[in-house]
Amino acid sequence: MEYFPLFIDLKNKNCLVVGAGEIAARKIELLAKAGANITVIAPKISTAVTQLADNHAQINIIQKAFAATDINQQRLIISATNQTEVNRLVARTADSNNIPVNVVDNPSLCSFIVPAIIDRSPVIAAVSSGGTSPVLARLLRTKLESLIPPAFGRLAQLAEKYRSAVKENINPPAQRRIFWENVLQGSIAELFFSGKETEAEAQLQAAIQQTAKTADTSGEVYLVGAGPGDPDLLTFRALRLMQQADVVVYDRLVSAEILDLARRDAEKIYVGKQRNNHSLAQESINELLARLAKAGKRVVRLKGGDPFIFGRGGEEIETLVEQHINFQVVPGITAASGCATYAGIPLTHRDHAQSCTFITGHLKDGSINLNWQQLVVPKQTIVIYMGLVGLDKICQSMMQYGASPELPIALIQQGTSQSQRVIIGTLDNMAQKVRHEDIQPPTLIIIGSVVSLHDSLKWFQPEKNVR
Ligand code: SAH
Repeated sequence: MEYFPLFIDLKNKNCLVVGAGEIAARKIELLAKAGANITVIAPKISTAVTQLADNHAQINIIQKAFAATDINQQRLIISATNQTEVNRLVARTADSNNIPVNVVDNPSLCSFIVPAIIDRSPVIAAVSSGGTSPVLARLLRTKLESLIPPAFGRLAQLAEKYRSAVKENINPPAQRRIFWENVLQGSIAELFFSGKETEAEAQLQAAIQQTAKTADTSGEVYLVGAGPGDPDLLTFRALRLMQQADVVVYDRLVSAEILDLARRDAEKIYVGKQRNNHSLAQESINELLARLAKAGKRVVRLKGGDPFIFGRGGEEIETLVEQHINFQVVPGITAASGCATYAGIPLTHRDHAQSCTFITGHLKDGSINLNWQQLVVPKQTIVIYMGLVGLDKICQSMMQYGASPELPIALIQQGTSQSQRVIIGTLDNMAQKVRHEDIQPPTLIIIGSVVSLHDSLKWFQPEKNVR
């Protein structure tokens, strides 16, 4: 992190602005909103600044050139002149007096930078690009503006008004948090945003009474598909639940970037499994989820791809059903879909394949029992999960059962991530090819004539492996 973000109280604190042009005017206005006592020093004063001073008693204009002696005990200083020498002098003097200084549009002279803000006071969201690109920060602000309705600040005031009532009536804290989340993003908030503030408040009062009566301390489990790797492929619901969860239980396929999106103070429990060592671990995971939910926690069980595709999601919720624990399942983009798309390989295509089969290539006792006769039928695509170890056997068996040795096959490593690699071969040379490559898990195999489209349709250029 290049900068430490903070919000500073400037009410009745002395601040200095050097410069009195249009840009200075914007800074002065912002400081005035925060209640600062502002001294403006500049030899020439723009009408914008004069008008501000006319309207705000706490703005004091001194019309003169800046001198180092003007710096004196201020809480912070902003230099907004177009004179490089003046800006430098302000920065240097402020720094030697240990006063935070910002020189507009000149990060190298700044000891603090001013973020782009969305003001829904008392709620303020601030965005910074760390001085690298103010335009980028402003674009992000525009996006956030559309997400945070103008009445958000008043909603915060309403929440504050009822904070202690909720605290008295609703226990334990986890229950309280769920209550507030439901209020602040549910029908009461919608009512409030649509202008029916009195009605919203009445409903809030009713909800407090209702929840106090029926308070139940049991938690919930959200079985969430995290997609194949690229965090951008999460669903909105996955993200929302991750941000509400008290605990995140995750395994090997969930990337660090995705985990980072979970609520910051959520407990994170790794339950990654080793290949060939499933059964016991799976039972303890099922029990862990049930135990956490019974302790009143909201648990996100985060799984790679889709929880219901080779994810053992079914087994995990069976235990929850047996123990009468509330749960939801959130689908995710499965590896077949994510990898095929990012490799430019359509899984079906009118000229190549009318069906697509997902199979597991996981070896049981060293062999793979699949319906080979069905898998070699032409005009279909076969997607193999967990197939790297059995790749040789798979290719051999398909050829034995009559598939053409020329049938194209793709191996996709770490699909949709910046380390994605796509290796293309045929049934008779793929195992050999792969042996010479340093392959990193996870990998997915796609077999079928659609693989031939990769060359012309590939579009995704990961940073690390452009080949
Ligand atoms: N539930 C997951 C699959 C879990 S099985 C899903 O729907 O995607 C684990 C296998 O998925 C891995 O062995 C690999 O074959 C495949 N896989 C998952 N993510 C992948 C990725 N990003 N790239 C390539 N293969 C992946």
